[in-house]
Amino acid sequence: MQLTGKTTVVGIFGAPVAHSLSPRMQNAAIKSSGLDAVYVPFHVTSTQLCDAVAGLRAMSLRGINLTIPHKEAACHLVDEMDKQAVLIGAINTIVNKNGCLKGYNTDGVGLLNALKQELGVDVAGKRVLLLGAGGACRAALVALCQAQAAWVGVANRTRERSQQLIEEISPNFSGTAFAEYELGPSLVNASKPVDLLINTTAVGLKGEAFGLPVVDCVKAGGAVFDMVYTPEPTALLDEARRRGLEAADGLGMLSAQGEAAFQLWFGRAPEAHVMRQAARFGF
Ligand code: NAP
Repeated sequence: MQLTGKTTVVGIFGAPVAHSLSPRMQNAAIKSSGLDAVYVPFHVTSTQLCDAVAGLRAMSLRGINLTIPHKEAACHLVDEMDKQAVLIGAINTIVNKNGCLKGYNTDGVGLLNALKQELGVDVAGKRVLLLGAGGACRAALVALCQAQAAWVGVANRTRERSQQLIEEISPNFSGTAFAEYELGPSLVNASKPVDLLINTTAVGLKGEAFGLPVVDCVKAGGAVFDMVYTPEPTALLDEARRRGLEAADGLGMLSAQGEAAFQLWFGRAPEAHVMRQAARFGF
């Protein structure tokens, strides 16, 4: 990679950021597309975010990804917001067009693409149960409604958060029915069997299981998607496969949200599978 004064710079702001797979995914895609560009991880704390976003204009960066803890705070620092990002209330991508910063959220489209590619699932007309009620769940909920899921349930450990999320999002989508639950022992009997279960919580990241029979919520022939991708397989996916359900981890979503950001910055899609392969195998 030959860097010059003409090289386009994109990257990611986060704290921590050193663990992020995005630099290797995006740089692999940049290289295979033959672009004169580079993707750089920047360790940016919450108190530095305002200056860092202003720096996008000052240094003419083409754009940036945002990860923990900046996805919500950054909404207040851009000039414009994409419609879907407004509904989600969080952004993971900024595009800098001649000094005008526009915020997007590509997690939702990343999820829908991964569901199609990894599980062959089109959510239109389906019953989907989301575990969690944090930022990733908000993006998933909006994307599922926009893709015309028939019913979406949200189950969270802290029930007030699932209630609040449904109250906020449901008035925007008359074509979808909603329900909210506590993520606890009563969930399995409360919810009718679903076509698709999606874990949007951090459970599994440390190898732990839910300690609840959440897979019982899925009907025979249904599928399970876990946004967590390390360790592979998570305890949830292991259990789903043991029951004969289709199951996929979050690596496909990670690469699909990255592909959508690449398209926004460079106006073209990256070569198919390059990001996924870089995320999974490191090249
Ligand atoms: P967040 O806003 O902090 O939300 C965390 C969620 O996890 C909350 O609903 C929280 O419930 C729940 N939770 C945490 N520990 C729990 C436990 N021990 N038992 C039950 N619930 C628990 O985080 P986020 O941004 O939504 O991210 C959530 C996960 O999704 C992370 O693992 C992240 O890596 C993953 N993710 C993956 C992708 C991808 O591309 N694959 C994209 C985005 C996020 P409470 O409300 O009760 O605290």
